[in-house]
Amino acid sequence: MTRPNRLHPPLKTRFALLVACAAAAVLLAHCEGGGAPVFVQEPLPYPQDALAPYISAETMRLHHGIHYAGYVEKANRLAKGVRIAGSAPEDLIRAAAGEPGRRALFNNASQAWNHAFFFKCLKPKGGGAPEGPLAERINASFGSFARFKNAFLSAAEDHFGSGWVWLVQDGEKLVVMATADADTPIAHGLAPLLAVDIWEHAYYLDYQNRRADYVRSVLDNLVNWDFVAGQIQETQKSGGAP
Ligand code: MN
Repeated sequence: MTRPNRLHPPLKTRFALLVACAAAAVLLAHCEGGGAPVFVQEPLPYPQDALAPYISAETMRLHHGIHYAGYVEKANRLAKGVRIAGSAPEDLIRAAAGEPGRRALFNNASQAWNHAFFFKCLKPKGGGAPEGPLAERINASFGSFARFKNAFLSAAEDHFGSGWVWLVQDGEKLVVMATADADTPIAHGLAPLLAVDIWEHAYYLDYQNRRADYVRSVLDNLVNWDFVAGQIQETQKSGGAP
């Protein structure tokens, strides 16, 4: 006759403990920078030449394969050993924002995030005007799609130096904004819906100094409005339409 051995829990319990320990070890390793990298270079969601003639294959090769890849690599290198609450790229960006000692980390982490987002905002045979709820939101915030487009183009044209132009959600309202260099709306508590990169590396081979032509071309021919619409965060928890 055997009695249960209290010093050795049943196999099932021991297995559960083992899984829990492994999970804790992975989490700790991640927090200490010894685990999986925070940023992963996302593949282009279309072939490199798919956006031509509006954005050439050569621009995409350099932009995705060199610039974006560089930001991802540097962000991961600088993030090693950094302890933050949370493990998402967005947590790292928010933690580094405004910290003088974390400037390089913020710049590279934001650029890694911004680029992954930007490439998803584009698609071949995109552009034109959105339809459905997104179109209604744009009309409600700007008066019309034409006025939104003018605001977006003006923001791109008026911005001095490198940066980004965004359509963001601020509560119920949609807003156009530009950010300088690597700065990103997620560091300011705003939800990005659409990004257009206005660093010279994004357009100079194809448009030289004609930044406004490049941005107009993106709006007219390349914006993936389905992706943009998918970024809208429903703020009304109840009482709204089903
Ligand atoms: Mn870029």
